[in-house]
Amino acid sequence: MTGTEELAGQVALASRILAAAGLAREATGHVSARTGAGRMLLRCRDDREPGLRFTERAVAEIDFDAPATQAPDGMRLPIERHIHGQLLAARPEINAVVHVHPWSTWLTGIAGIPLAPVLGAFDPGALACAVNPPPVYPQSWLINSAARGADIAALMDGHDACVLRGHGIVTVGASVEQATVRALRLNTIAMASAMAHLAGSTYRLGEDEIAELVTADPAVIAAAEHEVWLHYAEFAAQTPAPTGFLPFLY
Ligand SMILES: [Zn+2]
Repeated sequence: MTGTEELAGQVALASRILAAAGLAREATGHVSARTGAGRMLLRCRDDREPGLRFTERAVAEIDFDAPATQAPDGMRLPIERHIHGQLLAARPEINAVVHVHPWSTWLTGIAGIPLAPVLGAFDPGALACAVNPPPVYPQSWLINSAARGADIAALMDGHDACVLRGHGIVTVGASVEQATVRALRLNTIAMASAMAHLAGSTYRLGEDEIAELVTADPAVIAAAEHEVWLHYAEFAAQTPAPTGFLPFLY
């Protein structure tokens, strides 16, 4: 297996994980990975694969600024491919991008519920997402042009994630694994923030608790991310139905 084929397998697995965990519905959402100068692997639409949950082969290598005509036979390029192309072009330190539509951030976004430090040792990785909250892109429309993709890249300068209000989220990482785990954690903190808000809670962790729980050690962070990735890879393999926030709305 070549390096590109192995990476395509990771993009497909990440797609199945995000759908199994309830962050991606039907055929919407996509994962990308940098392959070389101006080139990326991207989860595309493929009529033989009914949605992200069942992604096996609908991954194509295309240019960052690929026109729709660059789609391989039997596939269609996602309209929102510009999110991926513009971020990978603007951020040489990242190698992967995730864009999905979770219920959790849809609710926090439209209701104006802040992502808050409400999870302690319950999930320190998710807590970190609230300590450095993602910027919010205020429009809910499709990111259907290079100009809108560039707006997302500019908004995310210095951030690993952003929330597209009424629409979804974007996360980036040095690897497919990292970008995917960041999306899972952002979903967790959004879910927790929404539930706490709806319960009328104003609880927030103290600064001393946050300082103790949120580590800045890259080795510790990477080990924890890999553990989460391995768990969800098996979860995706064994779980037939989507789960996650308000799964009955799937
Ligand atoms: Zn979208």
